[in-house]
Amino acid sequence: MTRSQEKRFKRQCAACRQMRERDELFRVVKVKGEAPVFDPEGKIPGRGAYICRDPQCVRQAEKKRVLSRSLHCAVPEDIYSQIREACEGEAGL
Ligand SMILES: [Zn+2]
Repeated sequence: MTRSQEKRFKRQCAACRQMRERDELFRVVKVKGEAPVFDPEGKIPGRGAYICRDPQCVRQAEKKRVLSRSLHCAVPEDIYSQIREACEGEAGL
């Protein structure tokens, strides 16, 4: 896959179900046999779930535990707070 193709390939937000560019989303990765991790750089290989870089989506994702559903595993509280912090950090810029 070339870089430009990769860019056009959109991902779905787990909270609002909108398709967005990869750089508009936060990524959480589930590596097989391990607990899910927040992947701000988008570099960790594994099964990914995506949330818009939008406080509303982040809040909704946390409330509805959508990441657990997307990744088919328990997602620690910690992951949601990491995403929330990253989101708040960006909003403050
Ligand atoms: Zn969203």
